Amino acid sequence: MAASLSAGLSYLYLISTPIGNLEDITLRALRILKEVDIIACEDTRRTKILLDHYSIKRPLVSFHSYNQDKMCRVLINKIISGENVAVVSDSGTPGISDPGALLVRDAVCENIPVVHIPGPTAFVTALVSSGLPTNGFTFLGFLPRKTGRIKKVLLNLIDIGKTIIFYESPYRIKKTLALCREVFPADTDCVVARELTKKYEEYIRGKITEVYEKINKRGKVKGELVVMLSKRRSLKND
Ligand code: SAM
Repeated sequence: MAASLSAGLSYLYLISTPIGNLEDITLRALRILKEVDIIACEDTRRTKILLDHYSIKRPLVSFHSYNQDKMCRVLINKIISGENVAVVSDSGTPGISDPGALLVRDAVCENIPVVHIPGPTAFVTALVSSGLPTNGFTFLGFLPRKTGRIKKVLLNLIDIGKTIIFYESPYRIKKTLALCREVFPADTDCVVARELTKKYEEYIRGKITEVYEKINKRGKVKGELVVMLSKRRSLKND
């Protein structure tokens, strides 16, 4: 068992890692990653880039959405037998549109202590720099794939009075913004945050139609995207 972690008890650590810029990781996250017995991650090659950058050498196991049912049991058994386990995702915070929540649920059922080492999450970074109200928001993760279901989700939120945030792929962004333009009033503010913390970081801001047009006239949209919509004008709590 890793020596300098709490003696006696074994832990499940959820560790937030960078969403682009490798410097965006806390000192505590690096220390815990160095000290745990095993690191469960999505793509071992991707996590290895981060670990190599910080000269961290710990055993990696694959923990994906497609093997998480089986791996939850494996990881819980390891913790019960005295090992400290860290979970990271390919980027950002495990459990946020990434595997993690099921493992935490199982750990809680087994009375295993769960500790999150805070750090980047793409939607928080996007929201705080968007210029849209931050005093109330709804984060949807990824939208459903089917047009009818997307519309239904968005129509339910139209009068919510909060900033709506979701993740979208560059392949679907034009179609999704076209749907948003159909569903939301023309004066809805929209911000698309692209490639956060990376070289080509960009915020595309305007009314929903303007943002749709700016993005639609681009050829192929590249990079990672967060979409935000708001009908509220006031940035103050009310
Ligand atoms: N766990 C991650 C988090 O804490 O934000 C989210 C993982 S989810 C599988 C990946 C999606 O997050 C991307 O498709 C994109 O919508 C968003 N995302 C991740 N990194 C981003 C970045 N650097 N800039 C903009 N969006 C990003």
